[in-house]
Amino acid sequence: MTETAVRSSPALLAAARLAKTVSGDAIRHNVTVLRSAAGGRRIMAVVKGDAYGLGAPAVGELLVASGVDALAVDTVAEGVALREHGSTAPLLVMDVDVDENAEACARYRLTPAVATVEQVARHEAVAQRRGAPVRVWLRANVGFNRFGPREERDFDAVLDRLRQARPAVLVTGFFAHLSSSAHDAAETVEQAATFASRLERVRAVLGAGVAASLAATHGVLHPAALHGTDWVRPGIGLYGLLVPAGRSLPGWDGSGLHRLRPAVTVRARVLDVVTLTRAEGLGYDRVAAVAPGRRVASVAIGFSRGLAGAPAGFTGLLHGRGCPMVGRPGMDCTQFDVTDAPGARPGDWMTFIGSEPDGRGAARTAQQVAAELNLSLYELLATLRMPVRLDDSVADIR
Ligand SMILES: *Cc1c(COP(=O)(O)O)cnc(C)c1O
Repeated sequence: MTETAVRSSPALLAAARLAKTVSGDAIRHNVTVLRSAAGGRRIMAVVKGDAYGLGAPAVGELLVASGVDALAVDTVAEGVALREHGSTAPLLVMDVDVDENAEACARYRLTPAVATVEQVARHEAVAQRRGAPVRVWLRANVGFNRFGPREERDFDAVLDRLRQARPAVLVTGFFAHLSSSAHDAAETVEQAATFASRLERVRAVLGAGVAASLAATHGVLHPAALHGTDWVRPGIGLYGLLVPAGRSLPGWDGSGLHRLRPAVTVRARVLDVVTLTRAEGLGYDRVAAVAPGRRVASVAIGFSRGLAGAPAGFTGLLHGRGCPMVGRPGMDCTQFDVTDAPGARPGDWMTFIGSEPDGRGAARTAQQVAAELNLSLYELLATLRMPVRLDDSVADIR
């Protein structure tokens, strides 16, 4: 072997131990699938939570290059981070942020959500100070009950305030978030009807040019949630993931969402393999009883990476075998029983989400892992914190 440069960047050193890999090809494919499921509506790609833990700057850039029309985040800080990374895409801050962050919204050309009279006033003040209009999206509460008044008369008061705030504050879009679109068709139809009637009043008061958006990923499975809207706001679907219950929704057949391709792989290296020779257990307080003769691999993933608690059924894949976790995770290392995975040795990659690197076809889905860890899919992606590799055939060619 010829002499190679010594790896010294902390990021590379960390990525040699464990990594999340994101497939650029899968994300591009998923944009196409979602666009067609949404009947060609414009796509605002949701990259909140650091793009669901996959790295918002790189993923956002890839999404924009794949043709999405805008990006959406939860906070002003996330939007500013994308701008500082060079993103020039239209960017909606979907959650209402704190008063003192309103000025930065304008300075970084982020579109804030407003849901109350007080929030309209704060952006009006920013516009007056800057001598330039602020463009906002109005957010309605149709039952999610996180932002904005639930009752119509209070919503009408916000509309009235927006009418007065013109031309300092200009409403370019109107949106709401569905509470149960992954599970409940009847509730979604009801919330879509509330949205439609409010949209009618928004356009009557503020003009017919206000764009509308209701559906996130699972909303696309409900015709009522698409009807009359111009934009969809998918997040998790871009990364190829759906809540399992989505498959039993009435809109599933014909949606084409079965073609979504999982974009995320999570793997960690085996650091050592210990054969237990005594009936004394292992780890702190020797809490895990492991029979003598069992082989246990110490793997480079731990609670500092989000693998917390003592999930009983959690397993990793090695050489085609599911290997159960033993004991509790450590800070940067967790042990798995690899007795049934012959040939397991230090340096092997254990796979937690996705397919094994040796191409034997063994795979674990994010849905399986979320169930084992008792997390939602969304929590799982954001919880596992580790170096991210973008595996991208197009970027490689460039
Ligand atoms: C998170 C979020 C989305 C995207 O939801 P997915 O289920 O990931 O597609 C869309 N809109 C709002 C307001 C959100 O908070």
